[in-house]
Amino acid sequence: MSIEHDAGARTGQDQPTGGPALPQRRHLVTEIPGPRSRELLARKRSAVPPGIGTTLPVFVTRAGGGVLVDADGNSLIDFGSGIAVTTVGNAAPRVVERVRRQAGEFTHTCFMVTPYESYVEVCERLNALTPGDHEKRSFLVNSGAEAVENAVKVARHATGRQAVVTFDHGYHGRTLLTMTLTAKNMPYKHRFGPFAPEVYRMPMAYPFRWPTGPENCAEEAAAQVVDAITKQIGAENVAAIVIEPIQGEGGFIEPPRGFLPALVSFARDNGIVFIADEVQTGFARTGRMFACEDEGIVPDIICTAKGIAGGLPLAAVTGRAELLDAVHVGGLGGTYGGNPLACEAALAVFDTIEAEDLTGRARRIGEIMLPRLRTLAERHPMVGDVRGRGAMVAIELVRPGTKDPDPAVTGEIARRCHADGLVVLTAGTYGNVLRFLPPLAMPEQLLEEGLSILEKAISSV
Ligand SMILES: *Cc1c(COP(=O)(O)O)cnc(C)c1O
Repeated sequence: MSIEHDAGARTGQDQPTGGPALPQRRHLVTEIPGPRSRELLARKRSAVPPGIGTTLPVFVTRAGGGVLVDADGNSLIDFGSGIAVTTVGNAAPRVVERVRRQAGEFTHTCFMVTPYESYVEVCERLNALTPGDHEKRSFLVNSGAEAVENAVKVARHATGRQAVVTFDHGYHGRTLLTMTLTAKNMPYKHRFGPFAPEVYRMPMAYPFRWPTGPENCAEEAAAQVVDAITKQIGAENVAAIVIEPIQGEGGFIEPPRGFLPALVSFARDNGIVFIADEVQTGFARTGRMFACEDEGIVPDIICTAKGIAGGLPLAAVTGRAELLDAVHVGGLGGTYGGNPLACEAALAVFDTIEAEDLTGRARRIGEIMLPRLRTLAERHPMVGDVRGRGAMVAIELVRPGTKDPDPAVTGEIARRCHADGLVVLTAGTYGNVLRFLPPLAMPEQLLEEGLSILEKAISSV
């Protein structure tokens, strides 16, 4: 019941990064999940609390390029990248090589105790790669939430102010402060209060759902935000505005052009630190190194994680030198932040993105996906909106002829895709968004096949 490992299925062009000789094809040998995965799921249920959910209970044994292989020998097409993490591909060759080598040298010292070069190099590369050519500093932590939390600490310290502005549909993590910044109650906040103080939520420019239509959305939303900040908080009390340039968990909500620049200029005029949470959008995902680049946004602080290190836990806070340098010695850090294995992986990711033009790959993936999804939307009125940039693409499911969210149909489409060997994720405040985040190592024929599976699921639902 195992799949044959025909290295011939792999060509240099089809699989620019990805695991060694893993056949790039969908191949189902059992129902999904198969007997071995079901057995493991039963063990999971008695060892792990249900709070740790499971999108698709196939237990993975190998992954690379555009596929995940499970414990029953099924090979599935991956449209999730472990939530935008394995952008360069799973077990990407450069990542594997550098991590292997580092694991044999040393695995930890704590950078705050006795430092090492790779941490500094990751920070130098981030300072150079992120938008803006001003003097920057970076420091490394373990997760996206930790990066956002630290960015807020820095902004508060540097400004001496307390209020933090965040947005409807936003997602920033699961720690006390970042779950407070997050918009959605269920599942992220429900019964986890009380929340952190001095967090203020503003309307988001959500073109598909803007009451007066998408053409008015950027201008009206920005005006509402400025008005609410001025009246309710007082601009002079605001330490930071925290926003995802394209919202991730909230449903891949792409604010129309003009909204982000309006927020940036309001922040500049009022001494407010503009924090871009590029945890999901960063590192070539949207067809640029960072999504902010599309509108020439230069954030004061940018938070990165997910795609930064090919799956090793790493996150970063990068920002203006004068802000980050304001914090006293010892005020920032953590035991594992910038672990040497994760730093090696990040350096391999930066090299891979450059060597394989992965920003170009992401744009190409968008050029393949968006037209096919738009055709699908014309045929099926339940597909209310198609949106995204590069390899960060989503469809929003509604009751035909309305904009009423249809989370039930969304879940059913996802289940049918899963049963057919396509890993897709749902998202959205209303649970009615299917989001697609293929690894940029995805061979084009698998991308097309995945879209055909999706089409079949939508036609049959
Ligand atoms: C995933 C995510 C986070 C949280 O990252 P973790 O590594 O899960 O803590 C924060 N912000 C955005 C935009 C994210 O997508």
